[in-house]
Amino acid sequence: MPQKQHDIEIMFRDGSKTIGTRTGNNAAWLCRCNRNRPLVGFSDVLHSSRASSDVECVDCGRVYRVVAASLRKTPDHVEEIPPRTG
Ligand SMILES: [Zn+2]
Repeated sequence: MPQKQHDIEIMFRDGSKTIGTRTGNNAAWLCRCNRNRPLVGFSDVLHSSRASSDVECVDCGRVYRVVAASLRKTPDHVEEIPPRTG
């Protein structure tokens, strides 16, 4: 059976939203900076201390998290988060 593709909401820090794709615990979406290839990441909790689940755009430096209730569970949205400091 093929991996089912689901729409997932992408929330940017300025309050705007768009739609990406989720399959299982992973999501893919296009960055606000119009990078022409999608960002891809796996799910974690919104306020995770794990930098390994940050998804940073290599073109503009925006950072995102694929947000779920717990690590590697089915995500319910993708959220742009503040870049880590220090
Ligand atoms: Zn970007």
